[in-house]
Amino acid sequence: MFDHFVGWLGNELVAASSSLLDKSKRVSLWYLLSALLFAWGVLAIRYGHDGWSRLQPYLSWRVWWHRSARTDYLLWFANRLALAVLIPKTLTQAVWISWLYFYWQEAGIGDAQLGWPTSIVIVVFTLCYFFVDDFSRFFVHWCMHKSPWLWAFHQVHHSAKVLTPFTVFRTHPVEGLLFFLRSMTSQSLVISVFLVVFPNQVSLWQIYGVLVTTFLFNALGANLRHSGVALSYGQRIEKWFISPAQHQVHHSNLNQHYDRNFGVALAIWDRMFGSWEPGHDNQMIRFGTNQAIDNMGMLGQWCQPFKDIYELFQARLKRVRIWLVSLQKKTPHTMALWKAPQTGKSVLKQDK
Ligand SMILES: [Zn+2]
Ligand SMILES: [Zn+2]
Repeated sequence: MFDHFVGWLGNELVAASSSLLDKSKRVSLWYLLSALLFAWGVLAIRYGHDGWSRLQPYLSWRVWWHRSARTDYLLWFANRLALAVLIPKTLTQAVWISWLYFYWQEAGIGDAQLGWPTSIVIVVFTLCYFFVDDFSRFFVHWCMHKSPWLWAFHQVHHSAKVLTPFTVFRTHPVEGLLFFLRSMTSQSLVISVFLVVFPNQVSLWQIYGVLVTTFLFNALGANLRHSGVALSYGQRIEKWFISPAQHQVHHSNLNQHYDRNFGVALAIWDRMFGSWEPGHDNQMIRFGTNQAIDNMGMLGQWCQPFKDIYELFQARLKRVRIWLVSLQKKTPHTMALWKAPQTGKSVLKQDK
């Protein structure tokens, strides 16, 4: 039993470290380097020799070995283990797609017979996949800020005092689970609809469009979002795409920046929901929540959300009790009726 556990732990450790060399992973050394080159190129064009000095937060070992960054690395690994246990192996995208595929067919949705050439189907599929996926990320993130129950878990991500590309993994396992369900649902939804509406036109080629958008996202700005390098996309592009500077505003510890820029790739959702705030190359932002959790280690990050949930629950319970007491004072007869089944006496009979 113990040998089995140690073997599993070893395998997970090797798998986690190998993502650093895996070109399909966002934090692979290739993407970490391409982000640096991209930022250097843009900043050199804008600021000449000063461009390089603006990259300093991305290159400083003080940032990469900051206590907060070390907590990110621990959470990255610990969450991998937790999610491997929490997510059943049978819950795969293929299962989810098959279930939805038959559901659409039973609901009467079938071949649209539009006669579109496959190239058009690929473009439409890629766009739908990208928009649905990006909006679902925005919306789940928005909910995590608006609901105090979900914020209890999401605060872990915001407690980072320095940002490194690995801060993307600084989440609570409960949030990891929610985002896993989100990606599974949104992606399966689009794929299953296309399988039903465009039968015989679905092939692996359709996925290439998605791979291209993911590649561009990873190769350019993705790893700069969680970094101290303030890089805006310029006034015009900022309105459409979330720049690294915009996501850094999202991590700001200032009150005026709270609940700004929930988006991942597109800025249009934030503009629609009134939460958009442009970023700037010269912004000076401190990160964190200003709460005790900012200084907690890995275990604290895992436990604090549950303490907060417990306190929230207690507070809600207290409010319900106060409300019931006030109701009893106002309408004692109604309350007597309400209480009756608990005491086993029939107030109605007594009234008679
Ligand atoms: Zn957030
Ligand atoms: Zn973030």
